[in-house]
Amino acid sequence: MCAVELLPSNPLEGKSPFELRLNQAPAASESVVKNALESGELGFLHSFTTGSTVDGPGVRVVGWTAGCQCRCLYCHNPDTWNMMNGMPVPLDRAIEEIRKYQHGLKIMSGGFTLSGGEPLMQDRFAVRLFTAVKAMGVHTALDTNGFLGERLSDRELEQIDLVLLDLKSWDPERHRQLTGKDIGPTLDFARRLAERKRPVWLRFVLVPGWTDEEETVGAIAKFAAGLGNIERVDVLPFHQMGRFKWKELALEYQLESLEPPCRGAVERACNQFRAEGLNAL
Ligand code: SF4
Repeated sequence: MCAVELLPSNPLEGKSPFELRLNQAPAASESVVKNALESGELGFLHSFTTGSTVDGPGVRVVGWTAGCQCRCLYCHNPDTWNMMNGMPVPLDRAIEEIRKYQHGLKIMSGGFTLSGGEPLMQDRFAVRLFTAVKAMGVHTALDTNGFLGERLSDRELEQIDLVLLDLKSWDPERHRQLTGKDIGPTLDFARRLAERKRPVWLRFVLVPGWTDEEETVGAIAKFAAGLGNIERVDVLPFHQMGRFKWKELALEYQLESLEPPCRGAVERACNQFRAEGLNAL
């Protein structure tokens, strides 16, 4: 039985992941959080959104988890870094929320995507939710930075139909500067997914001056092509839609005045992936 309840002022369904949501779990004690993480009985979620067409195939329901171990300089959801900014949602409640849409999702060849934040910060909740959703016959997708991929067993990976894997840079030092974390675990997870022949869409954020050098894009494209399981590459132009959140949270935002890349730069990056035989959009 969960010791915390959903706060009535925060509906489970959000207008969009860009909604700023803070301190949604003030009543959750340390032991509640610890038990939640160990058992997966309770998840900490920013919100659910419906109707997404960019987080996997078809039309999707997306669960946005709270908690992330990275500190990406371009993060557009820094309010999801802290797990306590998420709503405590019992696993059963989350399953019921998705069940409401199961028929529609199947008709629209869509499914359910768990994104964040970083969903694998709550790996037990993620696995249990995916298992329940897959049992409904609904397609499942995990949007992850891959850093905690080793938390999933090979068997648990089978509950995830598609991994949306964010690869943020190639150069280890640049990756550390950009995200605060090492690149190694993400690359290891990418290789493991390839060995297990799990379908992957690679996501790459094009950040002017940080990730848009020809050598960087070329190296990532080569690596991705060599894996053999990358069904598609999404080149995502850096944007400023989350700038207001950095301000609200009084965080120092180093990319405050950085302009998004021009269309030509995005197309050039896509072409580098295509040149390696990948389907880049
Ligand atoms: S991994 Fe995603 S949620 Fe975490 S800091 Fe980076 S962009 Fe933000």
